[in-house]
Order: sequence, then C-alpha cells, then structure tokens
Amino acid sequence: MTSPCPICALHHDQVSRECYEIQRSGLWVLRHHPNPAPLPGWMLLDTLRHCAGPVDFTTDEAIGWGIAVQKASQLVQQLTKCDRVYAIAFGEGAQHLHLHLIPRSITENSTKAWAVADHYRAVELNDHPPADPAQVEALVLKARQNKIVLG
Ligand SMILES: [Zn+2]
Repeated sequence: MTSPCPICALHHDQVSRECYEIQRSGLWVLRHHPNPAPLPGWMLLDTLRHCAGPVDFTTDEAIGWGIAVQKASQLVQQLTKCDRVYAIAFGEGAQHLHLHLIPRSITENSTKAWAVADHYRAVELNDHPPADPAQVEALVLKARQNKIVLG
C-alpha cells in the first residue's frame, strides 16, 4: 500500500465511528454510509483488516463472510422494511473490502438494478437530495440497539 487507505482511516476516525459505526467485531466493521448518504439504511460491511477483497481473505474471514453478510443484510431489511437488499463491492474507490448493502424498495424505480449507480452519482453530484441526516442518525442508533452478531 503506497497511499493511505481511506477505509482504514475511517476505521480510526473517532468522529466517523461515533456518527456511523454500528458494530465492530474481530473481523468486520458494519457502518452506515456517511452523509451525504444515497439512501437511508445504505450500509457498508468492511473487513476490519486492510484487505482488498475475498481473494485475499484469511481462512477465518472466508469462513465468517457468509454469516456476516447475512446478518448485516437482515439488519438493513429489518430497519428499512425494504423488499430486497443489494450487495455490491467493487473495491476501486478504496482497495479495502467495503460491501455496499443497499435497501431496495420495488416501488422505487430510481434504485432498480444498475439504476442504483446512477442514483448514487446523482446524490454525489448534488443532482438528487441525499438521505435526511436526521433519519440516518436515527437508523444508526436503532441499528446499534439490535444485537446482531457479525462473527
Ligand atoms: Zn485499508
């Protein structure tokens, strides 16, 4: 790694942790997307360790990944009442695994399949309003009360 990793930096940033982190285990960090968030309940599941993706998993990470993704996805669905939960990881913006867990409501066409990427960019470019920060904060607080076990 030649330049500082933005995901590792977030994991060490106290303000970010207080605002967005939901749970941290020995292997994983679950956090809400920082403001401006593309959708309320848009979460990220990161490896705690700097790791580019499943290709670089340790044996423990490989064994635990399925349960961690399942539990985190169930939490997104429970909190947002969405119909489905998309799971997407590119690892380009930061080459540190951060799986996007995206609440998908079937009545909202602007977030259907790859349109969700257009929605993401529209919020990023300020062409679409982000999730209400108060709603994001409320979801983070509610998520922390839920005692999921990421493993
Ligand atoms: Zn990192």
